[in-house]
Amino acid sequence: MKQLIENAQHIVIFTHMAPDGDAMGSSLALYHWISSLSGEGRSLSVIVPNAFPAFFNWMPGAKDILIYEKKPEVCNRLIAEADLFICTDFNDPKRIGPMGEKMLQNSCPKILIDHHLKGQKDDVQGTKEESIWAEEHVDSKASSSCEIVYKLLSTFNFQLSTEIATAIYTGLMTDTGNFSYNSNNPEIYEIIAHLIRAGVQKDEIYNAVFNQYSTDRVRLTGYALYRKMRIYPEYHLALITLSADELDRYHYQVGDTEGLVNMPLQISDVYYSVFMREERPKPGTPKPRIRISFRSQGDRPVNIWAGEVFHGGGHANASGGELFGKLEQAVQLFEKSFPLYVKKS
Ligand code: 5GP
Ligand code: MN
Repeated sequence: MKQLIENAQHIVIFTHMAPDGDAMGSSLALYHWISSLSGEGRSLSVIVPNAFPAFFNWMPGAKDILIYEKKPEVCNRLIAEADLFICTDFNDPKRIGPMGEKMLQNSCPKILIDHHLKGQKDDVQGTKEESIWAEEHVDSKASSSCEIVYKLLSTFNFQLSTEIATAIYTGLMTDTGNFSYNSNNPEIYEIIAHLIRAGVQKDEIYNAVFNQYSTDRVRLTGYALYRKMRIYPEYHLALITLSADELDRYHYQVGDTEGLVNMPLQISDVYYSVFMREERPKPGTPKPRIRISFRSQGDRPVNIWAGEVFHGGGHANASGGELFGKLEQAVQLFEKSFPLYVKKS
């Protein structure tokens, strides 16, 4: 991997749509690390498909991130000129939207760093497609892509700067719900000790990410829980839906519903939670997009449900999907399908 990077002149780092802390952290950690390597005239960019929440603006390097939706021409040129891609925190080119096609059109080497399970369609069909990746650093047991990046960098003789450490800590923190799930591996805490010695201010990072909300956001959360949460007690299941009109009422900003899907799981006998958010149709797409988040606890996978019914996927306990149509259609499909995918006990 280091050789590929050192031999490259035009590197593009990609991470997934609706970037979360792990997407931001793993791409920025790589960005800071590669910037610190020698390499005259090397260009290096981080491109994300769409905007990231404002509560990541403080991250060192966030200002340099290019948002494809805002600057498609600039990004298309960088993608066409690239001689190395590094993809972090996703493994399906579809997860970077229209950029996925553009990336595949460029035959240069592509490095994958990820902790999601890969879609298994090639095994099922029995026609093993040739991998698009020159290198794959994938560990579906890792807490986060940031953990994988840290371990990768540790195998090199690398200088752990405060910027790199801060980026990595952010992904570890957000992908484990501030160390409340996927977080029982002692190695994580050994890593954190190194990060703090390198200057990470962990309490400040927590505050910057979780305590900088607008009044509207907190009231929207209250409204959603009070008025919009349905419980299906027999199935230990909760559903929250928010329409585009409701979101407008609370001046919805990207990231405002982040974490909302986890809240019904605070109820003692709710083990599954689903959240649907309606997006206004974009020009050229007549139907609104319903973005759906799935969460569960214990041995109750939701990724098959998300995959088979809502064109998505993800981890066993945290998945996502979508539907193009009306919110009511999504709810109907949800109610029709949950008895097939949700365990009653
Ligand atoms: P969230 O609900 O936070 O948007 O997504 C939760 C997790 O589900 C993500 O970390 C990602 O692993 C997965 N995920 C979300 N949307 C999709 C999707 O459209 N396709 C796939 N394969 N995974 C998704
Ligand atoms: Mn992640």
